[in-house]
Amino acid sequence: MPEVKRIGFVGLGRMGWPMARELVGAGFEVVVHDVQHDRTGAFVEEYSAGRAERLAEVAAGADVVVTMLPDSGIVGAVLFGDGDNVADHLTSGATVIEMSSGVPDATIGFGVRLSERGIGLIDAPVSGGVKRAEDGSLAIMTGGTDKEVDRCRPVLEAMGSVLKTGQLGSGQAMKSLNNLVSAGGFLIGIEALAIGRKFGLDPDTMVDVLNASTGSNNSTQKKFKQFVLSGRYDSGFALDLMVKDLTIALGIAERSEAAVPFAALCRELWASARNGSGAGADHTEIARFSERLAGTVLSEPDSKSD
Ligand code: NAD
Repeated sequence: MPEVKRIGFVGLGRMGWPMARELVGAGFEVVVHDVQHDRTGAFVEEYSAGRAERLAEVAAGADVVVTMLPDSGIVGAVLFGDGDNVADHLTSGATVIEMSSGVPDATIGFGVRLSERGIGLIDAPVSGGVKRAEDGSLAIMTGGTDKEVDRCRPVLEAMGSVLKTGQLGSGQAMKSLNNLVSAGGFLIGIEALAIGRKFGLDPDTMVDVLNASTGSNNSTQKKFKQFVLSGRYDSGFALDLMVKDLTIALGIAERSEAAVPFAALCRELWASARNGSGAGADHTEIARFSERLAGTVLSEPDSKSD
């Protein structure tokens, strides 16, 4: 299979922007497109990348097209939508790397349609958030044939580490399960802080103790002080995207008829918090929802509801 030189990149959001920048930095010829044309323009100006006003231009001549978009519905429209799309303009032998956190079954369906045109597809969703996208150190959960994954490896390794998970769709299944664990760890940690606060413990001290103890997790280490106790709520990962991931995980469980009561409760709590928050809320704002349930406030040192 020919070496990857030219990459079309669709979706310059919080994650896509630094990921595309890493690809430019690694020496690939990168052509970018976002539905927000001013964002495309700003990227092109800052990093001297190629500009694509239309999806047809992202695909034309590309060895690989990367999609980093909100959900599988949007990815489907970008790949196959009426009028302007990627699939009609990619040449046989090209590969699509679908890096969004999507629905495995939808991605498998995209794979069938692309393979009819001689186009490959791998799924490669990521974990690590904006910070690790900026560092080029994302965990990239990768599903697809060995041949396709090996061809795309230099592209993926410019953005992080490749973790092979199996066949097409397995990366996205794994990603949703990772976020289930992450979402559960966040919620139970916040509830523990709320209980402690009402007892009279200081939340800041509690986070330090958890981080020195067996109750430590990614949220206690990287989110509670930084985004909750600080009152910033600006981690860069949206609440509705977390609910999407949990819904995907529950969908996989449902299909396999697994009884997963903790996972179901976790999704319900996150969805309830989302429904009570404004559009665009950061996922760390679920802490406010937990505070309301518990009847306390964690981010204000002097508040005493107990
Ligand atoms: P985002 O909303 O910041 O970015 C999405 C981008 O896609 C936006 O710039 C938007 O304009 C663009 N877009 C939407 N529709 C489009 C279309 N039809 N054509 C072209 N561009 C279009 O989202 P994000 O936080 O960057 O997340 C992207 C994906 O990565 C999601 O699937 C998310 O679940 C996943 N993810 C996010 C994080 C995070 O920390 N933010 C971490 C891991 C995975």
